[in-house]
Amino acid sequence: MSEQHGTINVIVLHFGYAEEARLASIVAIADCCFNTEKEAIKSLAEELFLKFKTNVWTKKYDKECCKKSSNIEGGNFCYKCGLYLEKKEDLIYEYFMSWLLDLLTYTNDDFGYAEEIDGVLLHWEIGFSPMHLIGRSSIEVVCIVENAEKVLAKAVGWKE
Ligand SMILES: [Zn+2]
Repeated sequence: MSEQHGTINVIVLHFGYAEEARLASIVAIADCCFNTEKEAIKSLAEELFLKFKTNVWTKKYDKECCKKSSNIEGGNFCYKCGLYLEKKEDLIYEYFMSWLLDLLTYTNDDFGYAEEIDGVLLHWEIGFSPMHLIGRSSIEVVCIVENAEKVLAKAVGWKE
């Protein structure tokens, strides 16, 4: 990536539309600043797509055994792993969006933080708290930084 000297280094992602929108957002913060929203979004999208392709697509849906099976006439399923042999090139963006929608349910381990993938240095980290952004002082806001599910259950009577 070229040198960036802009001011944009945070993207807040809200997934879904209208009633289907997710309640929570994901905050992505970059280690560099972009000049335009378009550059920032493209950079984040490329990194997430690389992560998806490397960690999910290639391992789950684009395996060598399935490629060999696709060349055999007549079969609808991979002879080795049993995966349905649909025309996957057309589906990569649908699967990518589905993976993005699921990000809110992933753990750090599921997402797999990394500083680089296949030699590409990553600039974006996701999963930061919106507390970084809301501009309210810490005496006005309670921030539960981890285990919010346990804190809330304890508040209504759960004994750990
Ligand atoms: Zn297969």
